[in-house]
Amino acid sequence: MKKHDKNNNTHFYGFAKDMLDRIAQNLNFSVSLFEVADETTGHRLENGSWTGMIGTLIKKEADLALGELTINYERSSVIDFTKPFMNMGISILFKRPKQDPPKLFSFLQPFHDRIWMCMIGAYAFVSVYTFAVARVSPYEWKNPHACNPDSDTLENEFTMLNSFWFAMGSLMLQGSEVAPRASSTRIISGVWSFFTLILISSYTANLAAFLTITRMSTPIQNADDLSKQTAIKYGCQYGGSTYRFFQKAKIPTYEKMWNFMSQNPDVFVNKSQMGIAKVKGGKYAYLMESTPLRYQVSKNCDLMEVGGELDSKGYGIGLPKNSPYRDIISNEILRLSESQVLLRMYNEWWDVSQPKCEQREDSVSSTNAAQLGMDNLGGVFVFLVGGFALALTIAILEFCVNAVVSSKSDRQTLCSGLAEECKFSVNCCGPSKKPVRLMKHKISKKLLKGYGGRSHPRGSDSFT
Ligand code: GLU
Repeated sequence: MKKHDKNNNTHFYGFAKDMLDRIAQNLNFSVSLFEVADETTGHRLENGSWTGMIGTLIKKEADLALGELTINYERSSVIDFTKPFMNMGISILFKRPKQDPPKLFSFLQPFHDRIWMCMIGAYAFVSVYTFAVARVSPYEWKNPHACNPDSDTLENEFTMLNSFWFAMGSLMLQGSEVAPRASSTRIISGVWSFFTLILISSYTANLAAFLTITRMSTPIQNADDLSKQTAIKYGCQYGGSTYRFFQKAKIPTYEKMWNFMSQNPDVFVNKSQMGIAKVKGGKYAYLMESTPLRYQVSKNCDLMEVGGELDSKGYGIGLPKNSPYRDIISNEILRLSESQVLLRMYNEWWDVSQPKCEQREDSVSSTNAAQLGMDNLGGVFVFLVGGFALALTIAILEFCVNAVVSSKSDRQTLCSGLAEECKFSVNCCGPSKKPVRLMKHKISKKLLKGYGGRSHPRGSDSFT
């Protein structure tokens, strides 16, 4: 970086300057710095000549070139490089999105839409299912008059409305006055309560995470996302090593990105600063090397790095071909690197110790709260379906046992007994009361007493 004093003299400062000063001090030479005319690292022109720092070295106008000069094969054939003093890779610079305003219906966020739909579906189904099973099970029919054991009708508490209310009570963890008496309906009640317990617990835990984080929606997460869209433009420095990386790309994603960039030449910039300014303007992602990128991000709170590094390479000091200073400077770079002098300089300039921008912590935690979907909660639905199947089996058993016993005691044939019970049960629009004759037999009476009498006070009614 450079700055001008009052007398308009240019002063260079920064990591590279500090490192060069240290090398010069240790190797006992003095440096005088100047900036190349086009302010670029350099690329090969069609006529074979080179621009920027590389061109300056080839013309032997300088003894060494220092800056964000990436070591690559093409350049190594025309100049010499020292050992790399810094490693990095291509990354994406993007404008930090604004915090999403709080949403009125943010309480819906902990679950994926599909989970909400399935929950509503499960609620409706369980209500209708409880109603149907309760009609089939003989043990859900009870004497409505506690003081009149000779009542000639039996009542079923699970009317359609009560069934919906019963399922709602469980869903809200509140319970309801309607209580199942038969094994089949109790199984439904059990699995439904377990289902709601898991869902409500997951919802509560995830809601807390959603309410405490600040959401920022980043439209792109990596290079792949960039390549799949055209609304956000993206580019790099013209002629630099990043440009060459994409130009020579063989990986489909990077090839696709190159096709887009080469068809839209306005996405290329001549200097990093122009790219960074474009990013700040919005709707533009700048592909640049991770070290200068992180420097910019550490200084500008409205910038951020997106995704990881696309490749891995290093910065070296450039020297004219066959320069006698190459090995001496390379050794000094290795020595400074091993003694952690370069690391300390890096930490100083990149200010790694404390994040300056308030939003940064939030943006990290925003990745920690994710909507729960079928992948996370599908198992509870499977459990529910299993419970339904079990309840249905038990209900059919209860029904059949009762029909067999009824037919014996009423001296009916089994078929006519079954037919009579079936006819009544399948009539869903039928009454919630049925004549007591359908239940008139000794075993049913015993069973009903045993079932209803213990757990529910209203169930102790006796049947005639
Ligand atoms: N460091 C690159 C070079 O040496 C310039 C920046 C870039 O291409 O991203 O050409």
